[in-house]
Amino acid sequence: MKDESKTCPSSRFSKGAYLIGIKNEQEEMDMLATPVKITAELYGQMHSSAAGTKPEKTLRVANKCVESGCKQWTGTKCGVIDNVLQSIEEKYLKDQLPECAIRSTCRWYAQRNIEACRACSLVTTYVEHSDENRFFNLGG
Ligand code: SF4
Repeated sequence: MKDESKTCPSSRFSKGAYLIGIKNEQEEMDMLATPVKITAELYGQMHSSAAGTKPEKTLRVANKCVESGCKQWTGTKCGVIDNVLQSIEEKYLKDQLPECAIRSTCRWYAQRNIEACRACSLVTTYVEHSDENRFFNLGG
């Protein structure tokens, strides 16, 4: 049977998930061409070196899309990428698509195709204050 499961490109930092992006000095995500598995060791290192801060402020993580198990699920799709694309001005969208290792299963790509990729590096999974000019989507 064909596996139709999709990958969430903005998930929580958790063991067994994959690191796919790291925030750069321009406050945008550099997407990794090769995802890095979050092992127990990496998970422990991150939490001891950055105690008290949420890794999702600076890292993007991919994991299985849990659909109705996530508060961002609208019933038929992920609400995050639609909200992002509705909020963001065209001039901020990237002309070049990031090299991305999860595109074939990415939930956002499946929904919005390259439009999603053009906005992807501008998405931060967790922001401290909702009035910051950043997108926030910590679901689960
Ligand atoms: S939206 Fe595009 S760039 Fe972002 S994770 Fe999905 S496939 Fe990759």
